[in-house]
Amino acid sequence: MIKRVAVIGGGIAGMEAAGLLASRGYDVLLVEKEQDLGGNVAKWDRLFPSKTPASDIVNKIKLGLSPSIKVLTNRTVTRMIRNNDNFALLLSDETLEKVDAILVTTGFQVFDALRKEEYGYGIYDNVITSVDLERMFASKKVLCKNGKEPKCVAFIHCVGSRDEKVNNHYCSRVCCITAVKQAIEMKELYPTADVYCFYMDLRMFGRYYEDFYHDAQAKYSVSFVRGRLSEAGETHDNKIVLKAEDTLIGKPLKVTVDMLVLMTGMESPDTTENLSACLELEQGNDRFITPADPYIHNNCTHRRGIFVAGACTAPKNIPETLADARSAVVAIEDYLFTYTD
Ligand SMILES: Cc1cc2nc3c(=O)[nH]c(=O)nc-3n(C[C@H](O)[C@H](O)[C@H](O)COP(=O)(O)OP(=O)(O)OC[C@H]3O[C@@H](n4cnc5c(N)ncnc54)[C@H](O)[C@@H]3O)c2cc1C
Ligand code: SF4
Repeated sequence: MIKRVAVIGGGIAGMEAAGLLASRGYDVLLVEKEQDLGGNVAKWDRLFPSKTPASDIVNKIKLGLSPSIKVLTNRTVTRMIRNNDNFALLLSDETLEKVDAILVTTGFQVFDALRKEEYGYGIYDNVITSVDLERMFASKKVLCKNGKEPKCVAFIHCVGSRDEKVNNHYCSRVCCITAVKQAIEMKELYPTADVYCFYMDLRMFGRYYEDFYHDAQAKYSVSFVRGRLSEAGETHDNKIVLKAEDTLIGKPLKVTVDMLVLMTGMESPDTTENLSACLELEQGNDRFITPADPYIHNNCTHRRGIFVAGACTAPKNIPETLADARSAVVAIEDYLFTYTD
């Protein structure tokens, strides 16, 4: 009998896994809580480190989704009933779906910058987030609120990550390299603008990321300042005054910029708590879903027949997410072949 797998979350991890499972002959159900598939990557303009349009990647992965996959958008799972090795999933529209295995690919949500009141997001016009800036790059309009080109721009790293005050101790991993990418894009758009990145540590973990960082300094003259912002204020003409400490020379700094970009990090989605309760999954103290073990069984959960992939278990970049989705398919196949009739 053909086995049926439910994939919960239609970002790149969910789509990649759903496409692969279908191509291997499984009956696949893909459940997405939003109206469209694509997840967070569909919100980005161009990707680090190659500046490839994000839409190229999302569209390529979407092409792998065969018409045999049952895609249910605007829906989530509200209840799970286990019957030996089968699962019945109750969806938010009150329909019931029976499956043999479940893959959770619910990804992340971007940290809400309103929670860092001292940085002035939602209060000062010219304080934006990296997500807002992606939208501006996509629309080819990167302007201050008064319609003028920014002459001086600052990027603040680690907003909502590595921050005990907001209960996020971990590093979101991708925001340092995103800041480098966006700083370069800003200089490409406005070559005479002064661009600063205020960082705690620079984490360039991926292939070519260090080269990208090097180019930002050598080719684009982006200034990297080791220092943490303490607060932002506004002048009468809507410029942003930053108070920080240069932690390399141990001196306080005061800089006035036209635009401040907050590098907001990744968080486990608020909906993970309900989903974890319903699927009996475990969450770590960082609220991401905990796999059965971090090395060999990192696509398995503590619940037999329920698997995980992508950024729902930790911050990941796109290649890591896709590799994780593919390895989850192998783990599911192994399980269905070995343990179910
Ligand atoms: C600002 C920023 C820029 C980035 N730029 C890059 C880049 O240039 N290059 C790169 O390699 N990486 C980049 N990344 C990382 C990249 O976004 C992630 O690697 C990728 O989004 C992870 O994919 P995912 O499918 O695991 O999760 P997501 O993209 O978060 O997708 C998860 C999906 O699950 C859905 N979902 C959530 N909960 C439920 C639920 N309960 N029921 C049903 N559906 C649900 C969501 O709506 C979403 O569609 C960036 C990250 C950030 C924050
Ligand atoms: S990747 Fe960089 S900006 Fe993001 S949390 Fe880690 S150190 Fe901070």
